[in-house]
Amino acid sequence: MTVLVVGSVALDSVETPFGAADGVIGGSATFFASAASPFTPVRLVGIVGEDYPVEKLEPLAARGVDLSGLERAPGASFRWAGRYSHDLNTAETLDTQLGVFAQFHPKIPESFRRTPFVFLANIDPRVQLDVLDQMESPRLVACDTMNFWIASRRAELLTLLGRVDLVTLNDGEARQLSERVNLVHAARWILDRGPRHVVIKKGEHGAFLFTRRAESGADVAIFFAPAYPLEEIFDPTGAGDSFAGGFMGHLAATGDLSPANLRRAVVIGSAMGSFAVERFSNERLLEITPADIARRVAEFRSLVALEDAAPDGSGS
Ligand code: AMP
Repeated sequence: MTVLVVGSVALDSVETPFGAADGVIGGSATFFASAASPFTPVRLVGIVGEDYPVEKLEPLAARGVDLSGLERAPGASFRWAGRYSHDLNTAETLDTQLGVFAQFHPKIPESFRRTPFVFLANIDPRVQLDVLDQMESPRLVACDTMNFWIASRRAELLTLLGRVDLVTLNDGEARQLSERVNLVHAARWILDRGPRHVVIKKGEHGAFLFTRRAESGADVAIFFAPAYPLEEIFDPTGAGDSFAGGFMGHLAATGDLSPANLRRAVVIGSAMGSFAVERFSNERLLEITPADIARRVAEFRSLVALEDAAPDGSGS
């Protein structure tokens, strides 16, 4: 099945302890599409300005990303500048230039409106709501957000929570949104606002999936997957969106929303996040093969296997 993503298509300037990149391809929708497209066809909705090097998105089109919902408008593209110090888990935003994003009123192409899986990537919650209004009976709607929108568009974000099935956010954002320090409390607070599932990402410390159990009222099921222990993390930008791309891509490809498959999706999301951080921009995501993905997912399994796996993953 197909997945639709709406989000930022950006030009990023990033500084990490290992180097710097200026004006490279970025944005929440771009990373998501790069990570979801190995699994399933992707439809992308976004906006860029006249300055955007759209030819750099061609590798995405070649991988099955339908870019016909990408609007090109007069003005400047969305630009984000960020810096990571030795704590690679937290980006310090140096500058956000909304550009053409400021007046983005997405018109979902008629042929996109019945897409079954929808990811409202990090973007103004008013735009996320606007997109949702145009979709026709999606099977699963997930959304992401960040500190910028939690602070500036809280009311709209709370309305959105009441209309989605799943939310992904990082631990800091979950705490900021819920005003709870404890992550289990934060997850419960978010689930009480409407979504059935919440994924809380903890960067290099892995990701939690919290699910409200329909059959037992307020009870919550918790699953945890570690992050892949990479020796070299080059640029953490896009890890969260790539996680979401792998996660949603797997769900859409299989069409299976069972608890076991959601857990599998968390591991596949974690694998895609780990690839994203190996290079700047979406470079690494564009070069990996299905065999690379399968190998990394197998390594995840052996990382947490309690039985039937030797430490080297050989299984003896
Ligand atoms: P993450 O997966 O959280 O590391 O997302 C990084 C991407 O989010 C970058 O490529 C940025 O261009 C994009 N981004 C940063 N700030 C915003 C924002 N306020 N709204 C939408 N996208 C953003």
